[in-house]
Amino acid sequence: MGENNQQATKDLPKLETNTVERLPPHPVCILKSKDDHTFELDIAALEGILLQKNVRDKQVVVVSVAGAFRKGKSFLLDFFLRYLQKKGADGWIGNDEEELTGFSWRGGAERETTGILLWSEPFFSVLPSGEEVVVLIMDTQGAFDSTSTVKDCATVFALSTMTSSVQVYNISSNIQEDNLQHLQLFTEYGRLALAESSSKPFQRLEFLVRDWSYPYEHPYGNGQSFLDKRISIDNEQHQELKRSRSQITSCFEKLGCFLMPHPGKIVASNPNFKGKLKDIDEDFIEYLSIFVPSLLAPKNLQVKCINGSDVTCRGLLEYFKAYIKVFEGGELPEPKSMLQATAEANNLAALAAAKDQYQRDMEQLCGGDTPYLVPKELDNRSEIYKSKARTLFNATRKMGGDEFSKEYEQRLIQEINELFDGFVKTNDSKNIFNAARTPAVFLVIIVL
Ligand code: GDP
Ligand code: MG
Repeated sequence: MGENNQQATKDLPKLETNTVERLPPHPVCILKSKDDHTFELDIAALEGILLQKNVRDKQVVVVSVAGAFRKGKSFLLDFFLRYLQKKGADGWIGNDEEELTGFSWRGGAERETTGILLWSEPFFSVLPSGEEVVVLIMDTQGAFDSTSTVKDCATVFALSTMTSSVQVYNISSNIQEDNLQHLQLFTEYGRLALAESSSKPFQRLEFLVRDWSYPYEHPYGNGQSFLDKRISIDNEQHQELKRSRSQITSCFEKLGCFLMPHPGKIVASNPNFKGKLKDIDEDFIEYLSIFVPSLLAPKNLQVKCINGSDVTCRGLLEYFKAYIKVFEGGELPEPKSMLQATAEANNLAALAAAKDQYQRDMEQLCGGDTPYLVPKELDNRSEIYKSKARTLFNATRKMGGDEFSKEYEQRLIQEINELFDGFVKTNDSKNIFNAARTPAVFLVIIVL
């Protein structure tokens, strides 16, 4: 009997996943560039965050900060963490003497590796609609300068834009032409995706201009009018410039801009600065306390949405896996293959959700603690749950068309059948008459 049981449990995939909950919160590197300029996605690390039981089925908000290195991205993100940890309560920004911790930030010109980090702790927030969502914070590291390869930073920028719902484009002092050109590279993908769906491929892009030094022209804070001017198209412009501008505006649902004052000399250049508020200029703190809630207050949160469907944490995992595949080759991916990857990920995410629903239903019916069921009854109920899972799969919006989805639907059925075999074994092992055929158990029964 014991052996039977063990066999049956082995056949069932585990619903639980290793969780990072028990460690103190920390940055987790999920994408690393290697020496040969290829990228490696740490799927186990991603799963550890995204597949936690209380997280995986919730809709996800991903806030990312990207841009050149040593421009205060990680420093800014640590204030995002403070806001989320204190749920935006008064005084969230901290006290004068508190050191700023979280994502590591530092001075000096030494370069870090290129990659993407996620904060291990998912934050929970309730939208005005009453829906509880998960908020994830993403840090990116990339050089964005001429000595690094364009592909490395393009990959990081593109992947973080595609997997986040809000991308903060952190730039220094002004919105320059090359900032806009970088953006255009990734929006090429968006242009193709647009043809396939009616919604815009990316959601919110926020230009965050650090060390803004023309407050008399455009005051600190909301810089919408400044942005409108920079990205407006006039007839004098070169064709190329016009194209990049119209492409950027057609790819993002919302484009915003925020002009930040300089944080002061200590922040910018004192090697002993530890992030204490008392060492930061008051102006900077004032605008920080406006900027952070403008992204993270519940009413401003933006759930990740791809092709018109909201994305759950589990779905996000599939998008990561699909997108990284197209960046694996030596060349920058063709926008066309990005589109294909999105369609694959749509289908895989729908498959995973439908399969999970079947598994949960069956576990309730005949999981470890439930009594033995007559095989016919088990069979009937499984058929009902299978068709429920199919309905869920078919009802989920997916890209790529019906033909494309057929293959994934068949895979779903096959995987459900495999799960069913596991459940049959578990159920059999509970049948006292079956078990009694094993001599050891027979003996125990006699002794009793
Ligand atoms: P990252 O590479 O973009 O993540 O930059 P870090 O967050 O590591 O910060 C790099 C340096 O910039 C640190 O020494 C910070 O003290 C400093 N810093 C942070 N915010 C600002 C800012 O708004 N302006 C300036 N000039 N320096 C900043
Ligand atoms: Mg950093």
